[in-house]
Amino acid sequence: MSYLSEMSFRRGIGLMLVVLSILAGGTWMIVRLTTGHLLDEYVKATARDWAQFLAGNVTDLREIAAGEQPSAASMAFFLATRKSDQVFRYVIFNRDGYSQLIVDHDKIAVVDLSEHSPEAVRAIALGQPVVDIKRDRSPAFPAIFAEAYVPAMVGNRPVAVVAAYVDQAEASRIIYSTFLLAAVSLCLLTALAFAIPAIAWYKRTREKQQADHRIRFLAHHDALTGLANRARLIERLESALAVLPSRGGWIALHFIDLDHFKEVNDTLGHDGGDFLLNAVGQRLNTMTRIEDLVARLGGDEFIVVQTGLSTKEQAEDFARRMKSMLGATLHFKEQEIRPCVTIGVALAPADGATPERLLKSADLALYNGKAAGRNCIRFFSPEMDAAQHARLRLEKIIRDAVAANRFELHYQPLFEMNGRRLVGFEALVRLPDPDDGLIPPAAFIPMAEEMRLIDKIGEWALREACRTAAAWPKTLTVAVNLSSAQFDSGELPRVVAAALKETGLEAHRLELEITESLLLRNNEKNMTQLHELKAMGASIVMDDFGTGYSSLSYLWRFPFDKIKIDRSFMQGLGSSGHDAETVVKTIIALGRELRMRVTVEGVETADQVDFLYDADADQVQGFYFGRPVPASEIAPALLKAARDTAAPQTKEPGSKTRLKFVS
Ligand code: C2E
Ligand code: MG
Ligand code: MG
Repeated sequence: MSYLSEMSFRRGIGLMLVVLSILAGGTWMIVRLTTGHLLDEYVKATARDWAQFLAGNVTDLREIAAGEQPSAASMAFFLATRKSDQVFRYVIFNRDGYSQLIVDHDKIAVVDLSEHSPEAVRAIALGQPVVDIKRDRSPAFPAIFAEAYVPAMVGNRPVAVVAAYVDQAEASRIIYSTFLLAAVSLCLLTALAFAIPAIAWYKRTREKQQADHRIRFLAHHDALTGLANRARLIERLESALAVLPSRGGWIALHFIDLDHFKEVNDTLGHDGGDFLLNAVGQRLNTMTRIEDLVARLGGDEFIVVQTGLSTKEQAEDFARRMKSMLGATLHFKEQEIRPCVTIGVALAPADGATPERLLKSADLALYNGKAAGRNCIRFFSPEMDAAQHARLRLEKIIRDAVAANRFELHYQPLFEMNGRRLVGFEALVRLPDPDDGLIPPAAFIPMAEEMRLIDKIGEWALREACRTAAAWPKTLTVAVNLSSAQFDSGELPRVVAAALKETGLEAHRLELEITESLLLRNNEKNMTQLHELKAMGASIVMDDFGTGYSSLSYLWRFPFDKIKIDRSFMQGLGSSGHDAETVVKTIIALGRELRMRVTVEGVETADQVDFLYDADADQVQGFYFGRPVPASEIAPALLKAARDTAAPQTKEPGSKTRLKFVS
């Protein structure tokens, strides 16, 4: 709730309380005045009635007023009436206002020492009753009583005054208590009449206030971890960056991303994922100072903004501490989680003067860290930005090329070492650059894999290569490279079968080249697909052999038809003693033992050809024999020669023909 609405809410409550107090106070006052007035009227009337009753029933009033003894009848009357609970005294005054006879509960006496009463005189003067209310605190009198002075008239002349003293304490108590009850009930009813809607209003406003509060909180915080969200982060960064020029120093923005978070979600479920995210949030909170900010951007991305740094080293120190603290083992439902993070750091003002730019710089640094194998800290450098631009451009080119089927296939010839015989071609994909030239596969295949577009590209390359090869002489094979990612769907055998069927290429003319990375995962699904492909009749080729860590061990995991020795060995020939030569010769010998043909890639010079001739390689491929070219540029003479030598030639030991073919 905003400050203003909070204020008006408080004002509303205050106003309501004032109205309620005025109402209660007003009601109370009115009741008091009314009861007071009613009581007075009642008391006066009672006293007057009694006095008149006396004046009317005592026949010898004039005589009594003159100082004589009352008659027997009057005495009897006095005796009877003094038993009344209400009238506790009568006094009969003479015309001059002097008391002559007093009748009260314990005596009826003619007064010896007369007392003068101004009220009696007033009653005589007015010729009308005068009533007075007395409130007395002395024990001799009731708490409240009325004195009524009634002139007794003979003709039109007052002859005496009868004063009746009427006890009104009980009546007053009853009236007060009755009215008090009524007043309290009225007050309560009034309060209730106000309170019920007021409480309802209060409750509703409070709920709205809480909902507003929650909405405001959620607008600026992440619902899962309670950390600041992107909106709040931008807000805080903006204000921190605004004062940076005057304050000086540095602001560090640490972009933290959990490595392999998806695996945590996959293995421990979303509860486990949420648990880890919360734990990371808490750890970051405990590490940071009050003036720093911890935010979650969503997913497994967190930001820490460190302000007021005097040196860049402080940011480095903090990033290192953060990385090690976040890496501490966690336990979730008896399972152990060892979090691993990559951190990208950008420093303001150098790496960005706006929140967006600073975030982008830190993101680029993070990306760089991820690309470098994760579990590391990277600080932003301007080259990362250029690399990112290039990456984004390439992404767009790939996406457009997939949509418009704009890839090209080039074919590089493979020759048998034994003679001049062309045995086939390797299909190598190219991506036309809209500006100029062709983008090599090494530059775009990994990105296409990341973009999950490799399936489409691979399928197109396979069909296109099969279609082209189907038109070649039947002795020629075509080799197609497969990315490991193409095995993920489990659909590869079906895709290959469909390509063969559609193009009419015989399966034995298709060679499928895979790399060690596929076997690295030792995945049952991949193995099954490889066996299916081999069973189909296609040859399975181990490409780039010798570049991995445990190349040899892969050779007996699968019965490859061919091994292609990586071109780096040709480049290494002669440069590092005889090591490369020895390795190449050993691999060729091993291939022979395992009944796998051996192709040597990257053959560029006549010396290399001589060496391979002696080393007894089966096939050769390289710029020396021919560069990759579009299908339309394959020399017709080459295809013709292949057609002419359609009869398969087998390699016979001792019958070597020195290969002199140059494309
Ligand atoms: P690769 O399968 O080992 O292909 C041989 C690479 O060596 C080709 O590079 C080729 O042009 C190059 N090469 C051939 N002879 C020589 C030589 O004498 N000297 C030198 N320096 N290089 C030579 P390219 O065409 O750039 O392809 C690079 C890699 O890209 C390929 O290596 C292959 O792994 C991958 N690739 C190519 N086409 C495809 C494709 O359609 N799908 C997939 N998944 N990968 C492909
Ligand atoms: Mg290859
Ligand atoms: Mg290769």
